[in-house]
Order: sequence, then C-alpha cells, then structure tokens
Amino acid sequence: MSRTVKRAKRLTKALRAAGVRITRQRAALLDVLAEADDHPDAVELQRRAEVELPGISLSTVYRTLTALEEQGVILRHQFEGHPARFEHAETEHHDHMIDVDSGEVVEFCSDRIEQIQAEIAAELGYEIVRHRMELYVRAKRPERDVG
Ligand SMILES: [Zn+2]
Repeated sequence: MSRTVKRAKRLTKALRAAGVRITRQRAALLDVLAEADDHPDAVELQRRAEVELPGISLSTVYRTLTALEEQGVILRHQFEGHPARFEHAETEHHDHMIDVDSGEVVEFCSDRIEQIQAEIAAELGYEIVRHRMELYVRAKRPERDVG
C-alpha cells in the first residue's frame, strides 16, 4: 500500500472516530491532505480540494482540520506572521526554518540540537516529552566585494 493510501485511510478513520460525516467534499479534502508533503494552510488545502471536487467551504476545511488535529493525525503549526499550517503527525520528528521574506518552510533535524536539549532538560531534572523549534531565517546575500 502506498504512503498516500495509508494516510488517506488513517485520516478517514480519524474523522469517523471524531463523529464527522465523510461527505464527497470532505473525502476530496482528505485525498489532497494525504498527498501533501509540504506545510499547506487551510486556504491552500481548500484550493487543492476544489481542483478535485468544487464546493468545499473554508469553514468546512477548518472544522475538518480541527477534528483531525484533535484525533492526533495532523499537526498544526502556528508560525509567526502566517496562518496556521498543517502536516502529517506521523512524519519523523523535525524542526522548521521559516524564511521571513518568502514564507517558505524548510525542515531540518539536528542530532546535536536534540542531544543538547535532552542534556539541558536532564540537568534541570526533566525529560523532554516533545518540543517544537522554529528558526526565522533570511537567505544570506552573496558577499559583495568592498571598494
Ligand atoms: Zn514539517
């Protein structure tokens, strides 16, 4: 079974568990969500779902996303200066860099950072349950020759 099909099944199951009726519009939304490997916001997801099947309202998109988030199958990211963005909860842990000029989201994972965080928490008598880290970045301009 492909990853997209597995995701679609997981999302459908979660929505049913939340007691949400799966209309054709919601099924179209689940399809585009299952295919998404980026961090789309609700408006972008509505746009993609409309390509498959017109007629899904933005409020339906929001309500569906909230139900999926409550079921733990998708994650909501509230990056500064942007509407909430969503991604699959089953992706491997990673952190995000947000380009403040373009809004592009870049994923990264650093073993060094993970280890340092664990050490700091342990020193203070804790273990990390989860964490989120966001770096707000700007593309470096090539250095200009002086003179
Ligand atoms: Zn991500």
